[in-house]
Amino acid sequence: MIHVSRLRKVYETGVVALDGVDLDVREGEIFGVLGQSGAGKSTLLRCVNLLERPTSGTVTVAGQELTSLDLAALRRARQRIGMIHQHFALLSSRTVAGNVAFPLEVAGVPRRERATRVAELLDVVGLDGKASSYPAQLSGGQKQRVGIARALAAHPKVLLSDEATSALDPGTTQSILALLKRLNAELGLTILLITHEMHVIKAVCDSVAIMREGKVAEAGRVADLIATP
Ligand code: ADP
Ligand code: ADP
Repeated sequence: MIHVSRLRKVYETGVVALDGVDLDVREGEIFGVLGQSGAGKSTLLRCVNLLERPTSGTVTVAGQELTSLDLAALRRARQRIGMIHQHFALLSSRTVAGNVAFPLEVAGVPRRERATRVAELLDVVGLDGKASSYPAQLSGGQKQRVGIARALAAHPKVLLSDEATSALDPGTTQSILALLKRLNAELGLTILLITHEMHVIKAVCDSVAIMREGKVAEAGRVADLIATP
């Protein structure tokens, strides 16, 4: 579902953030990228949806090589890729419903259809009743549920998660991880997540790549690579 080949990213500062990364994420799996701060995880994630232009190498998502697309085609392809963030990245001036509706507005989905989809999404993430609240009125876990609902709005095949639970307390982290697991199982959603926390990998991932200094040091099934006590 996601295929990354010989990916390199050299920033203008000369920093080599990615130094020849290969990655294969199969359809329907939860794939974790584990590594310390500075390893290149978030650069990799931003290159997977081309928020960041790779210096060289290719990124293929759902059979489409993104690196070769023009901007219009890339915008369309991105609608099949959802993304969630460590600090949620919600619009504070918009309601919960308004945040979830935002990508649908951008995609030109008509108002009535949008309202139906927003209600459906809030139900999926367990936020019915919060449609008219503002982000500032929500807990961290509720904010991340809004982020997840927004990411799923356009029926993506792939969800990218950038340290989605790093800002949450342990109990809330468990409930968000359980939600991701459920979405993976029920929707067949392929999830690529980055984290610096081993327990996140153990809790939800099928496969893992361990990154060090812009390279994949090891990759494989979680059950094979990571010993469980
Ligand atoms: P991680 O997500 O694993 O912490 P990053 O991808 O954020 O790693 O960073 C990898 C390397 O690239 C680090 O040395 C970081 O300082 C550098 N880096 C990240 N973003 C930029 C940027 N926009 N410009 C220059 N250097 C960057
Ligand atoms: P904002 O003012 O924050 O942009 P709106 O209230 O205009 O938010 O709503 C944005 C979108 O969310 C619209 O598409 C609307 O149909 C939908 N929406 C608004 N309230 C609800 C609700 N209670 N349940 C479901 N969808 C809603």
